[in-house]
Amino acid sequence: MKALVLEKAKQLTLRDIRIEEHLGIGDVRVKIHTVGICGSDVHYYQHGEIGPFVVKQPMVLGHEASGTIIEVGKGVKHLKVGDRVCMEPGLPNPNSRASRLGMYNLDPAIRFWATPPVHGCLRETLVHSGMLVFKLPENVGFDEGALVEPFAVGLHAARKAQIKPGDIALVIGAGTIGMVTAMAAIAAGCSKVLIADIVQEKLDLASRMGMMAVNVTRESLNERVSSVTNGWGADIVFEASGSEAAVLEVFETLCPGGRVVFIGMPMHPVPIDIVSAQVKEARIETIFRYAHVYPRALSLMESGKVNLKPLMTDKYKFEESVAAFAYAANPKPSSVKILIEL
Ligand SMILES: [Zn+2]
Repeated sequence: MKALVLEKAKQLTLRDIRIEEHLGIGDVRVKIHTVGICGSDVHYYQHGEIGPFVVKQPMVLGHEASGTIIEVGKGVKHLKVGDRVCMEPGLPNPNSRASRLGMYNLDPAIRFWATPPVHGCLRETLVHSGMLVFKLPENVGFDEGALVEPFAVGLHAARKAQIKPGDIALVIGAGTIGMVTAMAAIAAGCSKVLIADIVQEKLDLASRMGMMAVNVTRESLNERVSSVTNGWGADIVFEASGSEAAVLEVFETLCPGGRVVFIGMPMHPVPIDIVSAQVKEARIETIFRYAHVYPRALSLMESGKVNLKPLMTDKYKFEESVAAFAYAANPKPSSVKILIEL
């Protein structure tokens, strides 16, 4: 089948590849429709590695996908041929200790698409476990379906923050993950969500989506949070930039007894100011991908409480995949999510 293959760092080809896939009793075969390009795909493309994960043999990229069911294993009851679906890209061992405890995203044996050596979804079809495949509501398109994956990260972060009605949240970083986190925080009941970045084009989009944008190159984040919260501080700070400076200052804007959720992944170990956390008795949470949130994501999208469409800024055809990645490596500041349609 045709696939977008990362041969090694900086070398992408759209070519035929043979992938042996057996349709097990609990599996479905999906014809891929739309795939979103993630920062991690671009990072593998540019550097050939992320931390301990190194591309040592040709690998198909992509992990944010929607498509149509074309074959169903005998044991799958909740899906049928023709269903429009989106997929969770991480396949855990369902019998592992982590999975049995409900933390299947933390299963050390998880096989996640486009994380070496596992092939991703930028290809014509794939076989996946039915338990990780979710039917799209009628009013949710394939393009939105491909965005459920990043949105799931924001929702998982919102759940970890244990948002209460009326909370005021600050999101640091207005990339895709910062945006979906802010949307999840609003949907979860936050009264106000501030979002901070240095790129005005991204902040303009955030303002249009009902967030309070703060350009930290033009104004003091502390002063803005203070004025919005009458000097008390934000109930929740979501760190979604991965920037060392942001991590070091993350407790300054937090209210006493507040929560910080670390979502962004710094490129290397960075310091944390423990005393500033202690004087506020900050609760610190971290997240790694997500677990059990796809049904919630789809339900929010179906109800209209969350609309991911404004995040789709660029669309390419499958044949233009190499060009799509060249663009994704050096996008316009207004670009958020780049989609490839098969
Ligand atoms: Zn992603």
